[in-house]
Amino acid sequence: MRIENDLKLDFSDVLFRPKRSTLASRKEVSLERRYIFKHSQYTYEGIPIMAANMDGVGSLEMALALQKHQLFTTLVKSYHLEDFEGLDTQLDFRHFAISTGTSQYDLDRIDAILKKYKAIKFICIDVANGYSEVFGDFVEKVRKKYPKHVIIAGNVVTADMTQELILRGADIVKVGIGPGSVCTTRIQTGVGYPQLSAIMECADAAHGLGAHIISDGGCTSPGDVAKAFGAGADFVMLGGMFAGHDEGGGTIINEYHDTHQVDSETNESIFEEKKFVEFYGMSSTTAMEKHHGGVADYRSSEGRTVRVPYRGKVDKTVKDILGGIRSTCTYVGAPSLKQLSKCTTFVRVAKQFNDVFVK
Ligand code: 5GP
Repeated sequence: MRIENDLKLDFSDVLFRPKRSTLASRKEVSLERRYIFKHSQYTYEGIPIMAANMDGVGSLEMALALQKHQLFTTLVKSYHLEDFEGLDTQLDFRHFAISTGTSQYDLDRIDAILKKYKAIKFICIDVANGYSEVFGDFVEKVRKKYPKHVIIAGNVVTADMTQELILRGADIVKVGIGPGSVCTTRIQTGVGYPQLSAIMECADAAHGLGAHIISDGGCTSPGDVAKAFGAGADFVMLGGMFAGHDEGGGTIINEYHDTHQVDSETNESIFEEKKFVEFYGMSSTTAMEKHHGGVADYRSSEGRTVRVPYRGKVDKTVKDILGGIRSTCTYVGAPSLKQLSKCTTFVRVAKQFNDVFVK
């Protein structure tokens, strides 16, 4: 047994130190980035925030809504060739990826999509544990087959495996084990790595090789998204923060909450209606029953099923997130998102914010 004693940090362990700035307004802050990817040599331009490939988040409708803001969507693994029919003229191929696991079934499925829709450029190869030898082999196989496509591979949380996946052919490595809002991996397995430190260490490893990383999971507010960029993430992927919107396609559930007040005329209790949408992890029992006909005997569920408040259209949430990050940039004197990490000094904190009025 060995123990690493240096402290690893999460988003909640730090705040940005404000710095003198010449920026007059947050309107001046540009959030667009331009990247050229290591292997594919593809040039990306957009705002590098991504919807996760989760049910209720990584939908085609979400891609159509987010592309208007130049944001990116990783589509869920359950889309087949026929799902793109008719939509191919509306979808902006620069702003979404199709996703795959490592099974032959999945590979055949994406082969069929990529054969017909040659404009699709991004392939996200996504497994819960990116540390297995077979995963690296699979990334290598897909790279050989698709030399000009952008390959996203993950998830990992350490510099060694980030480099290994890049050398195997990944352009972008997805970073995060256990930080997700509906993830129970840390409880079920005891495995994980604090997300802010994971970003700093993996970004350093990837950038040294001319590759990129995505911070995946754990953002609960626009401030967390800014912290992920500040720590060195090239992209930030969001699940929970994009859940509960119309574009996710989930069923809206009405709940009636007792306000503990009584109507003075009728003398009846007043109930307040609240709308929710079900949201679940892709390794939860709900997801496994939906996509795989149940939880296999040898494994346990590593995801939660929750109800999140219904939030209408995603546009408002996007504006809220982008507004927050622009404001971070003005506080630290970064004229653009590109400069944010260079302008970042984090202070370690014992308390992040005042929650006296937070329920
Ligand atoms: P969030 O933004 O909600 O905090 O995190 C989203 C990320 O959580 C996803 O992109 C994915 O990497 C991860 N995730 C999604 N479903 C599950 C699950 O069932 N189990 C685990 N361990 N992680 C999940």
